[in-house]
Amino acid sequence: MSTTEKTDTQVLVVGAGPTGLLLAGDLATAGIDVTLVERRPHGLANMTRAFGVHARTLEQLDARGLADELLATGTTLDRARLFGRLDLDLTRLPSRFNHLLVTPQYEVERLLERRAATAGVTFRYDMELRALHQDADTVTAELTGPDGAPLTLTARHLVGADGVRSAVRTALNLPFPGGSVIRSIVLADVRLTEEPADAFSVNGSDDSFAFLAPFGDGWYRVMGWSRTRQVPDTEPVDLDEIREITRRALGTDLGMHDPRWISRFHSDERQVPSYRVGRVLLAGDAAHVHSPAGGQGMNTGLQDAANLSWKLTAVLRGDAPDPEALLDSYQSERHPVGAAVLRTSGALVRLAMAHTPLTRAARSLAARLLSTVRPAATRAMGMISGIGIAYAPPAGARRPAGRRAPDARLREGRLYELLREGEFVLIAPEGGPPALPDTAPVSPERLVRATWTDPARRTSVLVRPDGYVQWVSR
Ligand SMILES: Cc1cc2nc3c(=O)[nH]c(=O)nc-3n(C[C@H](O)[C@H](O)[C@H](O)COP(=O)(O)OP(=O)(O)OC[C@H]3O[C@@H](n4cnc5c(N)ncnc54)[C@H](O)[C@@H]3O)c2cc1C
Repeated sequence: MSTTEKTDTQVLVVGAGPTGLLLAGDLATAGIDVTLVERRPHGLANMTRAFGVHARTLEQLDARGLADELLATGTTLDRARLFGRLDLDLTRLPSRFNHLLVTPQYEVERLLERRAATAGVTFRYDMELRALHQDADTVTAELTGPDGAPLTLTARHLVGADGVRSAVRTALNLPFPGGSVIRSIVLADVRLTEEPADAFSVNGSDDSFAFLAPFGDGWYRVMGWSRTRQVPDTEPVDLDEIREITRRALGTDLGMHDPRWISRFHSDERQVPSYRVGRVLLAGDAAHVHSPAGGQGMNTGLQDAANLSWKLTAVLRGDAPDPEALLDSYQSERHPVGAAVLRTSGALVRLAMAHTPLTRAARSLAARLLSTVRPAATRAMGMISGIGIAYAPPAGARRPAGRRAPDARLREGRLYELLREGEFVLIAPEGGPPALPDTAPVSPERLVRATWTDPARRTSVLVRPDGYVQWVSR
């Protein structure tokens, strides 16, 4: 890991959480000069907040050669039981990863940090962004180092992946509209004396709900909420409070003991209106935040990063015929996804908190709908797992452009193995494809070329580095 005194870079990434680490690693893998600044000292891990890694994120990690290693750190769940009666069968997801991986957030960060360091990212820990300004060509960041010493770094682009209290967002004077959705959630990582009947369950009584998921190594994450105990985050929390809420919601506290972490927190629902202001972009929690229901914050941030990294790369390499339009497509593709995630997690948390006859009836109806109407369940699972996310086709392209490219076995290997080059993949019939559209932000020399195993397939498909279809031949 380099700590040289360079003061200019092509891309300055602020924040070494999951979003910043994936983005920086992608850019450096593509040969872009990247500096990553992080306010924490090196070695001091972020709190283990996220624990659920969804199917689409695992596919993104597969496209970076990291999925199998991450899978080995946790446990996979095939189904989830919500509100006591709604079973979500994740094995129906059309993915190699048709499950939810439960693993601590620090395992995701550890792998991404190692990859970024190997790819040549310049890490500057203990370095806090204080202010920034930009002109037509550069962004200048004012930072302070470990002893408060000032440092100025300049970059062609800057990405704020600096979390919910983003200093980058503040420096851009952007609003972060929204409000608090749930207060006084209590959380603990515990051991259990009794094995739970359902590996992953959420249930609610009239005035409380609790949630339980195994890490796979004997530790369980439990989260609970009680309408009758609404106190500020600073109010101490002990295991008795969590036991009591769990008993009320799940009917038993499963003999929980030996907590390694206990916390009380609240959740906001907010989204920044603009993910891009000139040469500065926002990603992850800096751009959107919501309740942990549905376990989507880290997953959405990682997918923001995967969407942005190849676009910045194409612009910096000079491969984008219209660089402004390509950078704007980060906003037009990812802002609606962030808004949809806010809606889904908001709906889940409100259903969990339901206590009036009307809201409880809505919860029963939603559970019945999702249990009995297959398309509704498929849509919900597609949204939560990320598998169902699709973008509008680029101008002049037709569907399935914009859709997720499923993994496919090709003569040269699996598609997601070929994507590990970090480049576009062109899949064509034997004998070569027709000419690519000149609007595609890719240089023909960098394309990874692949051939269908089935000689009957005559169309050619251009797949973006983030695993979405860019273009299909007629
Ligand atoms: C209890 C709980 C459970 C959750 N469970 C899940 C889950 O199961 N699945 C899921 O997907 N998500 C979950 N989340 C959300 C998830 O933790 C976040 O969405 C995720 O951490 C966001 O990643 P990020 O990289 O965008 O930001 P962060 O992880 O917040 O990282 C931002 C980084 O920027 C650094 N930084 C901040 N300001 C500056 C500055 N001025 N200069 C330099 N560096 C700075 C910070 O030190 C930090 O390291 C959960 C959250 C909570 C609270």
